[in-house]
Amino acid sequence: MHNAAFAHYKMEADYQLFEVAPEALGDFFEKTVAQKKLGGFNVTVPHKEGAIAYLTGKISESVKMNRAVNTVCVERDGSLSGDNTDGEGFSRDLKERRVTAALKNVSLIGAGGGAKAVATALAGQKPKRLYLFDIDQKKVASLVAIVREFFPNVAVQGVGQIEDLKIKESDILVNATPIGMKEADPLLVPKEGLHQGLFVYDLIYNPAETKLLKAAKESGCQCANGLGMLLYQGCLAFEKWTNKKAPVDVMRKALMERMRA
Ligand code: NAP
Repeated sequence: MHNAAFAHYKMEADYQLFEVAPEALGDFFEKTVAQKKLGGFNVTVPHKEGAIAYLTGKISESVKMNRAVNTVCVERDGSLSGDNTDGEGFSRDLKERRVTAALKNVSLIGAGGGAKAVATALAGQKPKRLYLFDIDQKKVASLVAIVREFFPNVAVQGVGQIEDLKIKESDILVNATPIGMKEADPLLVPKEGLHQGLFVYDLIYNPAETKLLKAAKESGCQCANGLGMLLYQGCLAFEKWTNKKAPVDVMRKALMERMRA
C-alpha cells in the first residue's frame, strides 16, 4: 500500500522489508538507517517495544502509552522520532463506520500488543465501562494499569474469565487475540452473548471473516474485520514520513489486491 501511495505521488521512494534479528536491532538503527538513506520505517513484531531504546528524537504520547513504536521518522537533523499509529488507525476505522465508544459498555478480549493500542484508543473515547479479558492475567493487570494511568476517569476492569465480560450487556466487543486466524480455532465467545445492537470488531483480517464475525453476523450484529485498522495505521505512517495526505483509496485498493493474491 505504501508503494502504491508513492507511485500515486510519483515519488522516488520504495517501501522494502528488512528482516532484523533481535541481536541486530542496534546495528539496524545505528548503521543501516543511514547507510540505506532511509526516510522512515515501520517497526513490527517482535521489535515494537525494543526499538524505543534506539529513538533519538521525539517520542509521541502514543508510544509512551503503548510502550511500543510502529512508525519511525528520520528527521532533518538525522534524529529518529517514534510514533504509534495503531490506536489512531483503529479509531479512524471506527469513525468511518460511525461507531463510537463514548458512553458505551465495551468488552475487549486480548491484552497483548494490538489490544494495548485498541484499549487506549477506546479509553480516549470515554466509554461507560471497559472490561478486559486475556488468558494471561498478568497482561490484563498491566493493561488495566496503563489505562488507569492515562485515563484515570475511565471505569476499566480486568476479568478472570470470558463470561465475566458480560457480552450480553456490551455495546462493543473487540477481539485482539489471534484466535480465529486458524480454521480449527474455536468460536471465542458463547454465541448466546452475541445480540443485535452489539458492534463486533475483530483485529484479524486474514481470514476476512473469522468464526466470531460469522457468528456475530448471524446474530444480527454490525461487524468489521481489522483491515481498516491496518489501512489507517499505514495512512497515518505515510503522512508522517511524507507530509502529504495519504491517498486512502489508492492504498485501500493496493491492500485489497494483496489480500486477494
Ligand atoms: P499478542 O501480543 O500475542 O497478544 C495476543 C494476546 O491474546 C496474548 O496475550 C495471548 O495470550 C492472548 N490470547 C490467546 N488466546 C486467547 C484466548 N483464547 N482468550 C483470551 N486471550 C487469548 O498479539 P497481537 O500482536 O496483539 O495480535 C493479536 C491479533 O491481532 C493477531 O491476529 C494480529 O494479526 C492482530 N492485529 C491486527 C492489527 C491490525 O492492524 N488489524 C494490528 C495488531 C494486531 P498468550 O500470549 O498467553 O497466548
